[in-house]
Amino acid sequence: MGVNEIFESHRLQAPAQAETSVKYRLDKLEQLRAALKGPWREKLATALEADFGKSAVEVGLTEIFPTLDNLALLRKNLRNWLRVKKVKTPLPLFGTSSYTRAEPKGTTLVIAPWNYPIFLSLHPLSTSFAAGNTVILKPSEMVPHTSAALAELIAEIFTPEEVTVVQGGVEVATELLQQPFNHIFFTGSTEVGKIVMKAASAHLTSVTLELGGKSPTIVDRSARAYEAGQRIAWAKFTNAGQICIAPDHVYVHQSKVDDFRRGVLDAVTNYYGPEAIDSTDYVKLVHDRHYHRLVAMADEAAESGTLWSGGERDEAKRKLAPTVVFNPRKDAKCMKEEIFGPLLPVFSYDRIEDVLEEINSREHPLVVYIYSNSKKSIRKIQLHTRAGATAVNMSLLQIANNHLPFGGVGHSGMGKTNGHSGFLEFTNTRSEFYQWGVPVSKLLSAPYTKGKQRLVNLLIKYLY
Ligand code: NAD
Repeated sequence: MGVNEIFESHRLQAPAQAETSVKYRLDKLEQLRAALKGPWREKLATALEADFGKSAVEVGLTEIFPTLDNLALLRKNLRNWLRVKKVKTPLPLFGTSSYTRAEPKGTTLVIAPWNYPIFLSLHPLSTSFAAGNTVILKPSEMVPHTSAALAELIAEIFTPEEVTVVQGGVEVATELLQQPFNHIFFTGSTEVGKIVMKAASAHLTSVTLELGGKSPTIVDRSARAYEAGQRIAWAKFTNAGQICIAPDHVYVHQSKVDDFRRGVLDAVTNYYGPEAIDSTDYVKLVHDRHYHRLVAMADEAAESGTLWSGGERDEAKRKLAPTVVFNPRKDAKCMKEEIFGPLLPVFSYDRIEDVLEEINSREHPLVVYIYSNSKKSIRKIQLHTRAGATAVNMSLLQIANNHLPFGGVGHSGMGKTNGHSGFLEFTNTRSEFYQWGVPVSKLLSAPYTKGKQRLVNLLIKYLY
């Protein structure tokens, strides 16, 4: 079936989908949960291993676990989120009542990236389905084994009219974007995000854009710098740095550089042994183009800075060792674009004001990470920067709290996902107004007699 026909079948299904019971939707999601806990856990892990050498433990921890967490949250809260909610009635509207109802948007499109292809596909897919929408998922062509496995899994549980996986690359995505969807949930690069938003504008389709950027990390003079180095190394080199919220680069107060350096280097050796590129726990880069981009970026950074560790590479394995470069030139490529790989530029600083100025000279990031033990300093950094989130004394784990909205601002994205915030993206909060008694318009309609004028004067004088 072509893209047009698939979309048409979803468009026709959308009204019936909106009428499905909460029980029906939760039952389907329960089947998805059972599949992920059962045979599909291994099948998906095998697919991801084939695509970019991700270990089964990491797949369990960073893909299956958060997907199950979202399903559990939906099971617990869906009825409440869908409940019609009464809102207050102001005095002049005496005799009326008002409500809000979360109604599904209709036909939705989820476009997913390759770096967490299971979680970033199934998380929005489940939330959109739970809200009562139909869903077309376009997973990334960069992870063909995982995308094929997802297509098979989804076909096992859902009818093609309610949820369909459409595999393919840019051409297929472009064709999908021409359809008049009711909502598009896109996760990927900022550049493609602009293309998605432009296409959506043709139909005034609402969008959620979960994009990328350069998330800066500050280790200030009050920080426990050794521990900060360890935590930042974990966050940066997990998934070989191919994480949208990975610390992109670090500013360390000059008095803490030595402690920080020891922390990072000890952590890398502890996690992956002396030769990270030989470790099966250390993930590959997703494709050759990405590998060559990162190797060139690391070499350029090392030319002007001091190589603290890494630089080793293996083209056949598509691996670049965890590479840490101290004080490379600020006009190097690694400081001009999102790194999205295992290269960590570290800069020493003296005055925090200079760091804030530099951060603010770039587009707003997804996260500003702060390692500090000074509340005053943390507040100052928060006040003087804009970002989708702040995380203090830890990196990455903020995404694991389903109660915290997740998303960017400006070039790092728009709209929020996770928990109730994610549910709201897929629903229209519809207002409902009911007139029961005599309407106020009867008292205040033309002809405007003196009595009516007095009444308006009294309302204005005494009501507000
Ligand atoms: P990408 O933008 O290249 O691709 C994402 C999706 O868009 C894929 O499914 C791809 O097929 C599709 N696509 C590519 N070109 C397209 C086009 N011209 N028109 C329509 N669709 C197109 O991103 P990627 O390389 O898969 O992922 C890496 C990027 O995603 C990084 O920038 C990263 O920061 C970002 N990301 C963001 C989040 C988040 O939650 N904010 C999560 C993961 C990744």
